[in-house]
Amino acid sequence: MSLAHDNLPQEIRAARRHDWTREEVRGLFALPFPELVFRAAGVHRQNFDPAEVQISTLLSVKTGGCPEDCAYCPQAAQYDTGVMAGKLMSLDAVVAEARTAKAAGAQRFCMGAAWRSPKDRDLDSVCAMVEGVKALGMETCVTLGMLTDAQARRLKASGLDYYNHNLDTSPEYYGAIITTRTFQDRLDTLAHVREAGIHVCCGGIVGMGEGAEDRVGMIVALAALPVHPESVPINMLVRVEGTPLADGAPLDPLDFVRTIAVARITMPASVVRLSAGREDMSDECQALCFLAGANSIFYGPKLLTTPNPGRDHDMVLLDRLGLRPME
Ligand code: SF4
Repeated sequence: MSLAHDNLPQEIRAARRHDWTREEVRGLFALPFPELVFRAAGVHRQNFDPAEVQISTLLSVKTGGCPEDCAYCPQAAQYDTGVMAGKLMSLDAVVAEARTAKAAGAQRFCMGAAWRSPKDRDLDSVCAMVEGVKALGMETCVTLGMLTDAQARRLKASGLDYYNHNLDTSPEYYGAIITTRTFQDRLDTLAHVREAGIHVCCGGIVGMGEGAEDRVGMIVALAALPVHPESVPINMLVRVEGTPLADGAPLDPLDFVRTIAVARITMPASVVRLSAGREDMSDECQALCFLAGANSIFYGPKLLTTPNPGRDHDMVLLDRLGLRPME
């Protein structure tokens, strides 16, 4: 397999390490908080303009009724969360939503469907959505569950820029969160996406009752992918009534910031997204995340089925922090 990584200058290849050990990553998490954030901010500056934030908007194009059992997800059919199963949205409705998101400042339009894996007929509809959104001049991302290599190539041919498929957590904790597909299934889909030439969006969720060592294991697994994901969403669990994780203890927000910082240091050239969970996060905590190297957010009042800060609030926050949308 020919990887884009091979064409990079030597010094950048050296910085993009894929051999982070658990001990090293554990050591980063254990640094005094100011030292960790200072180091992460330095790596951020070497690779990006720290005043720029990439803005994405996420739309659920097919909601609920999912046969998988991800313990955090209100869209799993087996949990009684009040999310109704819907049909795949029409092409016109999706393009209209993308047009609204673009007018509000989003550069990338992400479309999520609650499937274990797409049927070929559904994939044709999603490809038409990708073509329609791209015609607006936006980047496109979809998350549709597991893909075969042929499905990944079909999406690439439609012009898809990014495919989102998260590792979710460490390999060791994975079985406590999902039993209907394996960690290896996820790696296989990511390999199909990468081989098709689509950019990878892959991260995880913290605050799911995992231990500190699982946050170490999750980052090691992400950084060990053959090419670092171009986009690394780090999510704080949104605890939804009716899911198995509804009543878990909340994570210390500083441990969330630490996870962002370690992701930034270990995957220096990736865009790290401060993803789900911002609705319950203080502006000050989000500011710490930006300081620790986060440089992307989901923008818009809803993330699939869970709430997200309103656009006005986010624009005021970015303005207060002197940050601006990435060109
Ligand atoms: S996270 Fe995705 S695959 Fe898992 S239950 Fe929810 S919609 Fe289904």
